[in-house]
Amino acid sequence: MKRRQFIKTGGTVLAGAAVFPHISFANKRQKNVLIIGAGIAGLSAAYKLKKNDFNVLLLESRNRIGGRIFTYNFNDDNLTCELGAEWVGASHFRIIEMCEEFELELLNHQFETYSILNRKFSEPNRWGYSSEWSEKYSRLIENYNQMSEEDKKKLDRLDWWRYLVNNGISENDLEIKELFDSTDFGETIRQVSAYAGIAEYAESSPKNEMDYHINGGNSLLIQKLADKVGIENIKLKHTAAGISQTGNKVKVVCSDGKIFEADKVICTIPTYGIQKIKWDPDLPEVYKQALNELQYSRISKTSVLFSERFWKDESMDIITDTLPHYFFHSSKNQFGKKGILTSYAIGDKAYVMSKLNEQNKIREISMALMPAFGDVEKFAEKVVSYYWGSDQFTQGAYAIYNKNQWTRVRDILSTRFENIFFAGEHLADWQGFMEGSVNSGEEAAEIIINES
Ligand SMILES: Cc1cc2nc3c(=O)[nH]c(=O)nc-3n(C[C@H](O)[C@H](O)[C@H](O)COP(=O)(O)OP(=O)(O)OC[C@H]3O[C@@H](n4cnc5c(N)ncnc54)[C@H](O)[C@@H]3O)c2cc1C
Repeated sequence: MKRRQFIKTGGTVLAGAAVFPHISFANKRQKNVLIIGAGIAGLSAAYKLKKNDFNVLLLESRNRIGGRIFTYNFNDDNLTCELGAEWVGASHFRIIEMCEEFELELLNHQFETYSILNRKFSEPNRWGYSSEWSEKYSRLIENYNQMSEEDKKKLDRLDWWRYLVNNGISENDLEIKELFDSTDFGETIRQVSAYAGIAEYAESSPKNEMDYHINGGNSLLIQKLADKVGIENIKLKHTAAGISQTGNKVKVVCSDGKIFEADKVICTIPTYGIQKIKWDPDLPEVYKQALNELQYSRISKTSVLFSERFWKDESMDIITDTLPHYFFHSSKNQFGKKGILTSYAIGDKAYVMSKLNEQNKIREISMALMPAFGDVEKFAEKVVSYYWGSDQFTQGAYAIYNKNQWTRVRDILSTRFENIFFAGEHLADWQGFMEGSVNSGEEAAEIIINES
């Protein structure tokens, strides 16, 4: 996703106040902060608060921490793949800093893109955009870098597809652009704000933040954060179902009836979960309207363990016009004879992939790869997949800001509601990235620290 920094008033307080009963927190003299969600936003906020002597308690719905960071181990084969977040970007300074702090090694995870289009396999640099479009696009990016905030706001009123068409992109170039950019956004570029589109590419590293991967899996960072926060401060299988504010206290009631009380709450969950909570007082209409407006993209990742790395090139990724959509070599820099190729499907393709049984997933992937490598189905040993479109707690992979939403919807959703702060992927400048989640969690923690 993208770094989009302009327009975020933040700091405004939504009006409200009310009731609920009961417990928690060992040390009553210190400020108590309850954090909803033990994804990377919640854990980063908790770590920062803990370092500043706050009592923290995290409530997490799932029976695991990490949320959309979800490393899968093919245990017998000592290989891992990511079912959620994959790449650490070269511009993602907080994640890189944390990896240094926790002595986690970042491995190169950059790829050279092949294509399979219309059943024709092409090697990197032997296919791509026309030179006319490449030149025109560079000029558009340069223009963007000169734009005022007002110009950017105007851009936000257009969708990315329309912007490209209005700028004379040819049918062939548009086809490639749609395949690439929909991979980044998780849905067709017709559903993406032109501002979000251009900011994505103008403000990212040359490889579009697809630069590194944590050796051993991204979930290691989650484990390190949880160790710092203290496992005893994280309550799994605790779903926040009701939140009430009265006076200076906030009470959270979980779906099993347990009640927790705190001075402040940081709510880091995606919009689908926020809507399911019973709020007392109710969230303001403008906030509820914004929750209704924001959609999340549908992505499915399907990783196949192959008995050999028939693709030979360790740095191979492939964009295709087939159902599995985009492939990359998940096990790059993990050594062994066997290897993992992951299909990253988006939108309707992701949904259709998710409906296939394991055998048919392998078949579909093998058929898609056939123009490049012949019949590879015989090498497939195991498959693992995850479809985020129907994830119980997210109902999507990450937020997709459509036209007119970045400047308006995000600002409303970022607004503090008395003693409740909102954080998480959908609210960050680096929206759609782990980095953004960390930034948003730490920003909320920072405000609480400064106010105490
Ligand atoms: C397929 C996919 C690919 C991605 N690729 C990349 C990538 O390459 N690079 C990158 O940087 N980022 C990537 N991301 C984005 C990255 O995963 C997210 O930005 C980040 O992990 C989100 O963290 P979070 O803490 O904001 O939200 P989450 O991880 O969603 O954490 C929120 C937590 O809240 C919990 N929860 C929900 N409702 C409740 C409730 N009512 N009570 C208690 N707990 C609740 C959830 O279970 C979850 O654990 C990808 C995401 C996906 C899905």
